[in-house]
Amino acid sequence: MIRCYIGLGANLEQPVLQLEQAVLALRQLPDTTLVAVSDFYGSKPMGPQDQPDYVNAVAALDTELGPEALLDQLQQIEQQQGRQRKALRWGPRTLDLDLLLYGNQHIHSERLTVPHYGMKQREFVLYPLHQLAPQLVLPCGTALTSLLALVPENGLTILK
Ligand code: ATP
Ligand code: MG
Ligand code: MG
Repeated sequence: MIRCYIGLGANLEQPVLQLEQAVLALRQLPDTTLVAVSDFYGSKPMGPQDQPDYVNAVAALDTELGPEALLDQLQQIEQQQGRQRKALRWGPRTLDLDLLLYGNQHIHSERLTVPHYGMKQREFVLYPLHQLAPQLVLPCGTALTSLLALVPENGLTILK
């Protein structure tokens, strides 16, 4: 079993419901146990500002799936919830599921970079992750708490 962390995000079509639906879907994944889900957080969009605020959360999973098989499952859930792949980077979306951490592994393949390349800079990842795993040390050896000290909350709010 490998402990993984998934970043969830949505800002279209009732984002809280999108995340609740995504949590149900994560619970159904094969060869996987959903261990915990953070609170849901309201956050400011990255990139284009002319889009709704986001709802974000982090989920902890224990899985027997390999990293690419897990990514397949995550992308399937995004598709089921109407994710449209668009040219606009960081544009609005019904659901984004990013693989943040896969155990202590570093992965660099065509489809996958793990740890997720942006996680160390993103308040909407670090704060919910800290809620689930306050003692976490990243594969690079950096303590999560030391990253929190560098990344301001930027208006992050707990929704529920
Ligand atoms: P960002 O990656 O900056 O959060 P995004 O989540 O909107 O942006 P997507 O459109 O969801 O980007 O994903 C683009 C591609 O990123 C996917 O096709 C996937 O193959 C690749 N990718 C690389 N590493 C990861 C990862 N750790 N988790 C999810 N997707 C990843
Ligand atoms: Mg993303
Ligand atoms: Mg993504």
